[in-house]
Amino acid sequence: MAYNKIEKTSRETLPLLALRGLVVFPGMRLNFDVERDVSVAALDAANNNGRRVLLITQREFLKENPRISDLYDVGTICHITQMLKMPGGGVKVLVEGLTRAKIISGTDTMGYYLAECEGITEPKPRKSSARSEALMRRVVDLFDTYASISPNVAHELVMPLLGITDAGSAADYVMQHMFMKHEPKQRVLETVPLVRRLELVAELLGHEVEVLAVEREIEENMSERMGSNHREQILRERMRSIQYELGELGGEPENEFDVYREKIAALHAPDEVHEKLNKELERLQKQGFGSAESAVLRTYLDQVLALPWNTLSKEKRDITAAKKVLDSEHFGLDKVKERIIEFLAVRQMNPAAKGTILCLLGPPGVGKTSVAMSVAHATGRKLARLSLGGVHDEAEIRGHRKTYVGAMPGRIMEAITRAGTRNPILVLDEVDKLGSDYRGDPSAALLEALDPEQNNAFRDHYLEVPFDLSEVMFITTANSSQTIPRPLLDRMEVIELGSYTDIEKKEIAKRHLLPKQRKKHGLKATQLKVSDTALLEIADGWTRESGVRQLERELATICRKASTAIARGELKSLSVTPRELEKHLGPRKYIPDASSIGGEVGLVRGLAWTEVGGTTLDVEVNVLPGMGALKLTGNLGAVMKESAEAAVSYIRSRAEKLGIDADFHRKYDLHIHFPEGAVQKDGPSAGITMAIAVISALTGAPVRPDIAMTGEITLRGRILRIGGLREKTMAAMRSGAKTVIIPADNERDLEEIDQTVRRALNFVTARHIDNVLDVALDFANAVPPSFKLPTKPETKPEAELPQGFTPISEERPSVPLRM
Ligand code: ADP
Repeated sequence: MAYNKIEKTSRETLPLLALRGLVVFPGMRLNFDVERDVSVAALDAANNNGRRVLLITQREFLKENPRISDLYDVGTICHITQMLKMPGGGVKVLVEGLTRAKIISGTDTMGYYLAECEGITEPKPRKSSARSEALMRRVVDLFDTYASISPNVAHELVMPLLGITDAGSAADYVMQHMFMKHEPKQRVLETVPLVRRLELVAELLGHEVEVLAVEREIEENMSERMGSNHREQILRERMRSIQYELGELGGEPENEFDVYREKIAALHAPDEVHEKLNKELERLQKQGFGSAESAVLRTYLDQVLALPWNTLSKEKRDITAAKKVLDSEHFGLDKVKERIIEFLAVRQMNPAAKGTILCLLGPPGVGKTSVAMSVAHATGRKLARLSLGGVHDEAEIRGHRKTYVGAMPGRIMEAITRAGTRNPILVLDEVDKLGSDYRGDPSAALLEALDPEQNNAFRDHYLEVPFDLSEVMFITTANSSQTIPRPLLDRMEVIELGSYTDIEKKEIAKRHLLPKQRKKHGLKATQLKVSDTALLEIADGWTRESGVRQLERELATICRKASTAIARGELKSLSVTPRELEKHLGPRKYIPDASSIGGEVGLVRGLAWTEVGGTTLDVEVNVLPGMGALKLTGNLGAVMKESAEAAVSYIRSRAEKLGIDADFHRKYDLHIHFPEGAVQKDGPSAGITMAIAVISALTGAPVRPDIAMTGEITLRGRILRIGGLREKTMAAMRSGAKTVIIPADNERDLEEIDQTVRRALNFVTARHIDNVLDVALDFANAVPPSFKLPTKPETKPEAELPQGFTPISEERPSVPLRM
C-alpha cells in the first residue's frame, strides 16, 4: 500500500458516492457493499470513465436519499480496483483511497450526482521532531493495546503500522482500522496538518482504550455475578434460537416447561405416574438452566414420556391365519408350529393364562429367532429383541437408580420403548447365558418382569414408576436348558428345535434362504439357479452345522458373485452345480469322513452333544508296559475322568471273562486320549466308548468297522440313558457310521429321531456292556498285546506307589462338549 504516495490533484468532476457510516482514508483499501440505485449508477459511470470516484460520508446514517447538503464537505477521491455485481442487484466494490478532496458543487445528472471537487494537497512531512516522534510511539502503543482488548480489531493490524514513517499516513491508517462511529473518523479526515492529525488520533485512541478497559471490567464483574449457570442459560437460549432459525426445531420456540406439562397431562397413565412426573417437572423448573441436575431431570422426563403408555397393537386372533403365516415363513418344524399354535389358542381361550412364557430351545441357526418373528407377524404384535448373554448385573435388567451417574432404564423397559407398544413380543435371547454375581441376581429381576402375578406394575429402578407388562408376550431363546436358572425354567413352556438333516437344510435353502438372498442381491429367479445337489454339497462340504446360518451365508456369497458378474455384463445368468462350488466358495472346508473308523485296535468312535449340535468324538487307548497308571488326556472334565475310572474298574472285575491278563492293572499303563484337545469335553456318556476302547486295546480285538456308540456305564457294566440322541445320531450318520449302539433306555427317543437318520442307521440297543461286546469288537481276529515287561522298575518312587490305576490328568474348567 502506498501510504506515502500523495497525489497532486487539481479540480475535477467525478461521480459521487455517498457513504453511510464509513470513511475512506487516502492510501487505504476498503471493500463494501453498495445497494442504493443512485450509488450503483455512480459507480458504473466511474468504472467506465477512468475508475475515479469521489466518496463522501453522509452526516446522518439513516438518510435514504441524501442531497449534497446532507454530506460532509470533505471526502476522498478513490480508485475503483474491483467491482462485483451481486445477484440481488447490489454491487460489491473494492476501492483504494487516493487523496482527500473538498467538494465544490454537485449536480444531479442521469440518475447520479456529479461532483466538482478539489484535491487537498497533503502537507510535506517535516523532519521528524522529538514531539512527532513521541506522538508516533504513543499512537503505536495505544493502537497495540487497543487491538489487544478490542474484540473487533485483529492484532495483526499492528505490524504494518510499525512500517509507516510519516505522521499523516500513520494517523490515517489507525483511523481506518478503528472500530468506531463515523463522526470522529470524519474529523480526522478533515484534519490536514500532519502533527495535529496525529494528536487527534492519539486522543481518540486513548479515549477508546479507556472505555474498552472499563467495559471489560464491567463485563467481568457481571459475568461473575451472573455465575456460570446464567451464562449457560443465555448460551442455551441462543442455541435454541439458532436451531429454530436453522429449522432444526419445528414450530414456534415454546417454553419447554409448558411442552412437558402438556405432554404429562396427555399421558394415559396411572395417577401415580402423573404425580411423579409433575413433581420432577417442578424440580426441573427450580433448577438453574443447564445445571447438571436439570440435564438428568430432562432425560428422565423424556424417557418416561417416551414409553408407550397407551399404544397397543391390535392383536390378530385368527389361529388358522396364524398357522398360515408360520407355514409360509418356515419349512418343516411341524411340531414346533403345532406347539406354538396350541400356545396361541390357549392364550386366546383363556386370556388369564397369558403368563406362560415360551422358550425356544435349540442350537444356533435352527430358526428360533425367526420363529419368534413369525409369531409377531401372525399375532400382529411388534417385536423387540434383547440379549441376556453375559448379563451379570441386576441393574442391567431393571435399570440403575437415578442417583447413579449416567443411569439408564434397564434392558426390559428399553426394549419396550423400542417396540413402541405396550403389548409387543419381547424376545429374550440367550437366557441360558445369564450370569449372577455380587452385583445382584439378574434372574430374580427377570422373573419379576416375567411373572404375571407381579408384572402388571413392573418397577424399573430408573423410571421409578410402575409399568404394566402384563400384555407383553415374552419369548426366550436358549441353546441349552441346563444352565437356565431353575425358577425361570419352571415358568417357561419349552419348545425344542433340533438340528436339521442335510435334506431339510436343502429344502430350507431352496424354499426360503435362496429366494431371500436372491431378493437381497437384486437377482431374479431366472438369473441364479442352484441345483439341489449343489445345496446338499454346500451343507456337507462347507457348513456342517446344526442350523442353517452358515448355509445362508454361503448362499449370500454365491448371490454376491452372481450379482457382480451380471452387473458387469460378464454373465446373463448363473446356474450353480456341485462342480462350480469350489470356484465360488473356495476349497471345501470339510472333507467327507473317510469312514476309516473301525478295524483298528483301541480306537472307537463316540458321539457327543454340544450346544451347537452333535459331533463325533473318537477315543484312542494305548496299552504300555508300566506300573498301572491311568493317564487321561484331551482336555477332559471331572465327570469324564470318573467315567473312565468306572470303565476300567468294570474291566478289572471282568478281566478273566474277557480273556485279559488279570494282573493288567499292575503290569501296564493305560493311556486314554481324546483328540482335539483344544475343545473341553465332559459328561458321562462316553463311558461305553472308553470301556470298549480299553477292552479292544487289552485284548487286541479290532473294533468292527462303521460303528459308533454312546452310553453311560456303571461299575457293574450297566448302560444308562443319555441325552441329545437326535443330535448325536445325526452326527453319526454324517460321519459315515452304519451301526450305532445306544442305551436301551433311549429306545423310546428313537421316535423323535429324523426319518432320514433312522433309515440310514442300524440301531443296537443295550442294557449291559456284555451284550454289545460282540457287536463292537471282532474277537476272532484278536492279537493280544505282548510286551516285554520291565524286569526292574525304572524309577524307585513309582514302584512304591500303591497298586492299581491312578488317574493322572489336569483339572480343566468349563464343559462345552458333553459325552
Ligand atoms: P437362531 O435364532 O435359532 O439362532 P435364526 O432364527 O437366526 O436362528 O435362523 C437363521 C436363519 O435361518 C434365518 O434367516 C431363518 O429365517 C432361517 N431359518 C432357520 N430355520 C428355518 C426354517 N425351518 N425355514 C425357513 N428358514 C429358516
